[in-house]
Parts: sequence; C-alpha cells; structure tokens
Amino acid sequence: MTATVDLTPYSGVDPDASWAEEIRALAKERDAVLLAHNYQLPEIQDIADHTGDSLALSRIAAESDASTIVFCGVHFMAETAKILGPEKTVLIPDVRAGCSLADSITGADLRAWKAEHPGAVVVSYVNTTAEVKAETDICCTSSNAVDVVRSIPADQDVLFAPDQFLGAHVKRETGRENLYIWAGECHVHAGINGPELAERAAANPDADLFIHPECGCATSALYLAGEGTVPADKVKILSTGDMVTQARSTKARSVLVATEIGMLHQLRRAAPEIEFKAVNDRASCRYMKMITPAALLRSLREGRDEVHVDPEIAARARGAVRRMIEIGKPGGGE
Ligand code: SF4
Repeated sequence: MTATVDLTPYSGVDPDASWAEEIRALAKERDAVLLAHNYQLPEIQDIADHTGDSLALSRIAAESDASTIVFCGVHFMAETAKILGPEKTVLIPDVRAGCSLADSITGADLRAWKAEHPGAVVVSYVNTTAEVKAETDICCTSSNAVDVVRSIPADQDVLFAPDQFLGAHVKRETGRENLYIWAGECHVHAGINGPELAERAAANPDADLFIHPECGCATSALYLAGEGTVPADKVKILSTGDMVTQARSTKARSVLVATEIGMLHQLRRAAPEIEFKAVNDRASCRYMKMITPAALLRSLREGRDEVHVDPEIAARARGAVRRMIEIGKPGGGE
C-alpha cells in the first residue's frame, strides 16, 4: 500500500499589513529575493519581488545577486533555480507542492524510452524533475518549444516529453513526422476541454480566446477555428507570459482564458479595463495554492524548505536548461 501524503496547506495566517511587513523584513534579513509564479495566490503574487512564468523566473533566479531565492511555485521550478544557481540557498515554502505533469515521467522511464530510439534528441518541457532534465538534450517552455524542435536537424528523431498536448501543438506547427510524444498530462490543463470551450465561446461571441498550449482544449480550439465554430482570428495560443503581453495590446473588451485560474490576477492587473473570464472556473492547481501566506512566513522565519539537487545530476541538467534559456524569448513558459 502506498502511503498517502497529507497535502493540507499551512494555514491560519492572514495576509494583512503586518504579515506583509514581516515578510519584507525577513526577506531583507535573509538577503532573499521572492519569486512567484503566475498561478500563485493573489496575495503571494502581490508580495513577491518578481512574478512571471517559469522561464522568466528561471532567468531572474540565474541573474539575481541575492544569496537566497524563495521560490513560490512548485518543486520542479525551485529545483531549476538550484540547477542554475548551485551556490545559492533555494527555499520553497512547502516542499509538498509537486506537479502532476512532472510526475508523469521519471528518469528511469526516459532512459528506457531513449534506449528504444538510439540517437534521438530529447526535448523535455521545463515541468520535469532534475533527474529527467539530466537525461535531456534541450529543455523547452511552451513559448519556445516550436523553435527548439526546429533547431534540430530534420532527419534526427526527436523524443518530446512529457506533455502530450504541447507535443501535439509542436508536431502540428513543425509538420515533423519523426517527433515522438510521451503521453503525459497535467490534470488541471487536461480538465479544460473542447466542448466547454465551444460553449463558452458561443455565449461570448465578441471575446478573444487566450489558450495555453498545454490545455486539453488547444487541439480542439484550433479544430473549432478551422470549422468556423470559433472565429480563427479570435483564438490565440499563448504561453502565460505572452498572455500578459497580448492583454496589453488586444482591442477586445472581453477575453476567455483557458489556463490555470491564478493567471486571471496578472491579466486583470495588466489590463483592468478588459473583462477576463475563465473557460473553466475549476481549473485550479492545488499544488500551486499550497504556497499560502502561512507557508511563506514559515519559510522565511525558519529557512525552510531547502531544495537540494545532487551536484552530479545538476551538472548534467544545467546544459539542457541553459539551452532553453538561450532559445526562449523573454516572457515564456507555463
Ligand atoms: S497546473 Fe499542472 S503543470 Fe502546472 S504546476 Fe499544476 S499540476 Fe503542474
């Protein structure tokens, strides 16, 4: 029998002014920079020094002068920060904050898959463990996945892991037959489906549709656009970083958003005059929401939970992550 991990978040702390003051003072004392992913709770996004997607935050973590990084996000993101800055102390406010997509492939799975395709180039989405990154040639984000695959000679096989929806998007964009896709998925994104999208789009005919390519609906959104069910010029397949950029420039007064609902906070901040609505209000990542005000306070008070990556694994993973950063345009990733 597998032991079940208790995922009850730390609670009992209000994110009021005295909390904010203590967080800022403790961060200063620890020489810490606070990074928050776009899917974090609004109060965590608001207190952070930087908010963004995984690629933007990886870049900031790599370039920061701070000796401590407090990563308000999920575990693989904090691991990536440690891979890029092994000399820094990296804290995650709750080490139990995992990721169902990262869990969908292990290092052993990937080694076995590589053995079936000798000579193939491995491209892994950034939502993977350090061990999987160590087996990877190039990491990618949703915004640079297509460019990464295009950078590989056409006659070389490519193994793409772990997200099947992002893989399908890349295969369609590149038209590449020798791209093999791992059948992994994120339970949150997979829960946003085509019929729901079609229904919401029909009820909001003037709205733009911002869709993250990991959503189960990305394929069907393009299909619906092709069918004329959803006007093609309304459908925008965007990374979370690109969503913020697009929000600032769109002429639409209303936007339907297909990704984790934490994203709505950043979009409303970027363009308060636009009405942003979730395609699926239930698309909330419980792991992301484990970084509560209580967890962040505990983290800064007690210096927990520290993230460690085996130095040998980190050294092997670093090249793949660096290539992702070089090929990625700013503001990309989940
Ligand atoms: S939303 Fe999905 S992919 Fe993102 S951290 Fe949560 S489980 Fe992982």
